[in-house]
Amino acid sequence: MTPIGATSRWIAAARALETESDEPLFVDPFARDLAGDVGFSMFASTQSVSGAVGNARNPYLSIRTKFLDDAILQAVRSGGYTQVVILAAGMDTRAFRLQWPAGLTLFEVDRDDVFSWKEPILERLKASPTCDRRVVRADLTGDWTAALTSAGFDPSRPAAFLLEGLLMYLREQDVERLLEQLSAVAARGSWFAGDVINDQVLTSAFTTGMLKTLEALGCPWRFGMAHPESYVARFGWNATVTMPGDPVTQYGPRWAFPVVPRAVPNMPRMFFVTGSNDTDVATAMSAAGVEVILKRFEEPDEVRVMVKGTFEIVRLGGMAIGRATYEPGWKWSEHVGAALGQSRCTVEHVGMVVSGSATAAFDDGRVIELRAGELFHVPAAPHDSWVIGNEPYVSIHFLGADRYAK
Ligand code: SAM
Repeated sequence: MTPIGATSRWIAAARALETESDEPLFVDPFARDLAGDVGFSMFASTQSVSGAVGNARNPYLSIRTKFLDDAILQAVRSGGYTQVVILAAGMDTRAFRLQWPAGLTLFEVDRDDVFSWKEPILERLKASPTCDRRVVRADLTGDWTAALTSAGFDPSRPAAFLLEGLLMYLREQDVERLLEQLSAVAARGSWFAGDVINDQVLTSAFTTGMLKTLEALGCPWRFGMAHPESYVARFGWNATVTMPGDPVTQYGPRWAFPVVPRAVPNMPRMFFVTGSNDTDVATAMSAAGVEVILKRFEEPDEVRVMVKGTFEIVRLGGMAIGRATYEPGWKWSEHVGAALGQSRCTVEHVGMVVSGSATAAFDDGRVIELRAGELFHVPAAPHDSWVIGNEPYVSIHFLGADRYAK
């Protein structure tokens, strides 16, 4: 078996250990045999680099299996799909262990070396599928859709597709081609789910040990995507992302790690992705938040009016950006602070002066002039401010706009 094929036995070992644990999340009675010694040995090497005990359950792989079990059953039942396609099926045994609705055909696609190992074991264990199971021996970097349709898949009917534990092993051009082919064969109204890693997993110091181990085993991880929603939207999929540890994946106290919000940049992450293609590409792109938004201060989202001045706010890209326009004679303590019952502004500002000049005057006596063309950071220390000279003062504020003059 090729090293990449053998990764399926590593995942089977993880499923065997979950199955044999107290209160398992799922039961896969075939997993131990399908994993074999090779699977358990790969499991042990990948566990040890993360400091985990060799035969302890792997929370990520257990949660992934359970999440995708539930997601695909729910999609099939609510969507009325009669076709399921498991791409890179490996030692997946959902054809045997899930209760599929009557009349369902399930296609398992993977390479020949994988099925040469898997099929005799299932036969020996007298495994009996709960659906019409069809094996498709094909390379997913080649023309796999022809093999799929030859096996009886009907591209005119929508289907549910799984891509579990695959994309990280492929080169980017192969991922693109695979997703193009998937879009071509998935009728409008189809559903898909899978898991992906982000780019930081491939470069982070935290994952170096794992990456080196996989490289040494001959099955390196090669591909990650920063923002799965917009990546798959290009292929017409309207997707939702779930992270292990999110409330929906809290199957008991399984995920013992902090869940760092997605807004925190540069974190290595693994995502579960589910989506459907019931809209066109443009709508999917827009839903993924990848459209360009243009706004103008002439049409602000909010205006704060004061004597001798206005402060307009536009909200964009998660930021509140303000434009201050003050007439000569404007002074913060008189025209803003008085109405608030305050004599000093305590808002931190980062901005740029567009025209005119004004001061930032601190209690220690420092009076700083802010002049046209200057970028400023005014700390949250109490300060007053006034316009200098006879020219109106205009500045743009990138920080502090939401709290200002309020
Ligand atoms: N989806 C299964 C699971 O989660 O248990 C197997 C995941 S295993 C980590 C990766 C699988 O991807 C292997 O079964 C391997 O054979 C398959 N795979 C990788 N590259 C492939 C390719 N070019 N064509 C077909 N299958 C491929």
